[in-house]
Amino acid sequence: MKLAARVSQVSPSLTLAIAAKAKAMKAEGIDVCSFSAGEPDFDTPAHIKAAAVKALDEGKTKYGAASGEPKLREAIAHKLKTDNHLDYKAENVIVTNGGKHSLYNLIVALIDPGDEVIIPAPYWLSYPEMVTLAGGVSVIVPTDASTGYKITPQKLRESITPKTKLFVLNSPSNPTGMVYTPEEIKALAEIIVEKDILVVSDEIYEKILYDGAEHLCIGSLGKEIFDRTIVSNGFAKAYSMTGWRIGYLAGPTEIIKATITIQSHSTSNVCTFAQYGAIAALESSQDCVEEMRQAFAKRRQVMLDRLNAIPGLSCEKPDGAFYMFPDISKLGVKSLEFCDALLEKEQVAVIPGVAFGADDNIRLSYATDMATIEKGMDRLDKFVRSRI
Ligand SMILES: *Cc1c(COP(=O)(O)O)cnc(C)c1O
Repeated sequence: MKLAARVSQVSPSLTLAIAAKAKAMKAEGIDVCSFSAGEPDFDTPAHIKAAAVKALDEGKTKYGAASGEPKLREAIAHKLKTDNHLDYKAENVIVTNGGKHSLYNLIVALIDPGDEVIIPAPYWLSYPEMVTLAGGVSVIVPTDASTGYKITPQKLRESITPKTKLFVLNSPSNPTGMVYTPEEIKALAEIIVEKDILVVSDEIYEKILYDGAEHLCIGSLGKEIFDRTIVSNGFAKAYSMTGWRIGYLAGPTEIIKATITIQSHSTSNVCTFAQYGAIAALESSQDCVEEMRQAFAKRRQVMLDRLNAIPGLSCEKPDGAFYMFPDISKLGVKSLEFCDALLEKEQVAVIPGVAFGADDNIRLSYATDMATIEKGMDRLDKFVRSRI
């Protein structure tokens, strides 16, 4: 049997594969320290679960609008106004099956074969694969620690060609944890407007910030950039709702309408009663978000200090999300080989940077308990010292 050519152009998600391998090892009784998962380790807050259970009991079990429950679209538009200073109506919002699905819908709606999409590396590994599936061309722009793994305005300008359609901005970033400052966002916005391209702003980690770092939504900087911005966000990271599969996009009417058409022929609506949990997440107290953020902040400090005490490793201080992205280039080994050996010898699961377009780095998630962090850092320290 011959599969479609597009299948051979993409690979399965390496992060999901490594996380699954670590889980399988644990199930076999092996004492694995896993820093591979890209999800909070907390349970979904009880009031959110209760709202979904109530909706289920009330019979919210039927097909709904492909665009999302009207009440949730309203709540999201309100959130974007109050949190992010973005003036969207409910009709500018689509509820999707997660932030990943938001981005997929958007790429399918916008990208024609040959269209170029600018993606700074290190990048979240699904971006280029989605562009490939749509027949587009990813223009990967490498960045390094000297600019905090952020694209500079000059590099963005140099990467734009007449074929450029879209720029992918992700702040706070997965995998680096870096956050663009308001000044940096402003400088990028000027170029996007001047060159008349679109930007998708993946803001899934906007609530997970440290040390006074600020999140500025690029679309809030004025009408010209607002008209060229699509915001992608969701409930997975801020509310620990990864398995619920609820995300959203907000943007210009024409683009959102197109994504609704695509969704109406692919997934139809997002799980109806789950959307009532999302409404509760937005409309109730945000204390749960802050409690999780504070726990992440403590773990971040411990992991960062431990990493930077290991000879040969160096790690920038992340201002957001829940990842560390240390540089391993001084060890003279590529990321996949390093991660395979680490899992085998010390049973520590981390993700090779090559998955994110950065083969000199590895990604560790600190969305896990403090005891695992301490134990895993002991093992990583031992592993690296045994190699130098
Ligand atoms: C987790 C994540 C998403 C979306 O996740 P969903 O579970 O699909 O909502 C989007 N972008 C980045 C960078 C992520 O890390």
